[in-house]
Amino acid sequence: MLKYLLIFYFLLLPMSAYAELKVVASFSILKDMVSAIGGDKISVVGIVGPDADAHTYSPTAQDSVKINKADLVFINAMGFEGSIEKLIGSQNKNVVVASDGITPLKSIQGEIDPHAWHDPRNGLIYYKNIFQALSRALPKERKFFEERYITQTRKITLLYESNKRFLKKNKIDSFVVLTSHDAFEYFGQAYEVKFIAPHSVSTESEPSAKDVANIISEIKQKRVQKIFLENMADPRNLEMITKDTGLKISGSLCADALSLKIDGCKTYYELLQSNFNKIFN
Ligand SMILES: [Zn+2]
Repeated sequence: MLKYLLIFYFLLLPMSAYAELKVVASFSILKDMVSAIGGDKISVVGIVGPDADAHTYSPTAQDSVKINKADLVFINAMGFEGSIEKLIGSQNKNVVVASDGITPLKSIQGEIDPHAWHDPRNGLIYYKNIFQALSRALPKERKFFEERYITQTRKITLLYESNKRFLKKNKIDSFVVLTSHDAFEYFGQAYEVKFIAPHSVSTESEPSAKDVANIISEIKQKRVQKIFLENMADPRNLEMITKDTGLKISGSLCADALSLKIDGCKTYYELLQSNFNKIFN
């Protein structure tokens, strides 16, 4: 009898494994967003982890295996993932562009800025795309995904409204912040803050001596209030600039990744609130 029960048990195993949706998310922030909607109905693995830089990341053979095994692959797109996007494209998978429907911002050099998640209103669009994609892939769990989608939408909307009220109450405007690379234009759009940075929308290219000189002159003209390093970017250029201007670094923001070393960046929601608090408090 026991033998038959065991055989029955092992027969069931592949079925439950088959029923589970296997998902890959290209970077840690997106992985958290997908998990928030999918819960235990899906298994999610990430490619670029916390505190790591997606712009400069080189995919490994293991990444290729992860993508190959996945039923769905979530990416930010807009040029954010670079070589990961090429690898995904070569594997003919079901790809979901989480930023689909967002109005992209452009840098002064005319490049599309991929860091759309820093505007909480865009976060709602990411969640909607994730909810719809998971519901299409696993229709029997649509209700489950929908409830979680509604919960996330409420949380992010409340966070955004409360932050806007804070700015109004404290009459905060014309705020200028210096960061390592141009990752916060969407945050600037959400809260009317001006950001400047020695690196453009990607950390890949090094700023020239002229770019650095321009930033130093901008810092002096525009009265930069705060300077922040980023959890995943090389701090050296910014440290050099602060040395030349005598300004102090206020801390680190979480830009393109969640963080295990900086407090308050374990989830997308935490990242939104923690960046806001560091800039305005
Ligand atoms: Zn970036």
